Amino acid sequence: MQEQPLLCPSSTGTTGNLVIGKVHADDTVTLLEQPQPVTDELMAAKQADVSMESQYRFAGKCIKSGCNQWDGKGCGVIKLLSAINQALPVDEDLKPCAIRSRCRWYSQENKRACSLCKFVITDYESKGAYFVEVSVLK
Ligand code: SF4
Repeated sequence: MQEQPLLCPSSTGTTGNLVIGKVHADDTVTLLEQPQPVTDELMAAKQADVSMESQYRFAGKCIKSGCNQWDGKGCGVIKLLSAINQALPVDEDLKPCAIRSRCRWYSQENKRACSLCKFVITDYESKGAYFVEVSVLK
């Protein structure tokens, strides 16, 4: 049986992807217990001047070399976040995550990815918080 592709946990809010988290006012993210499909209703409810990716986190198929963040071997986003946040303690007691078994970031960085995940806002253009040391954001 063919293995299912890994999922990018910082994908776009487009039909076919899953809503996996909500961005809060303090710029942290809470993951949903049960991911929800991106529906036309959700798309229609979007505020015109605010991107979906600054309000929610989405999971979608990791397209590897089809993505600008692919560095030839893996996702460059989680590699960079991990590298610049080495001082961040790794959560040993992970909260459940519905996509962990297929998460690209977890497959590369294991628990460190999950420790960083709650600070990642996909639309960094709007929030300016993506590549910042997460310790600054707390
Ligand atoms: S990095 Fe961890 S918490 Fe975030 S989506 Fe992947 S498995 Fe879930």
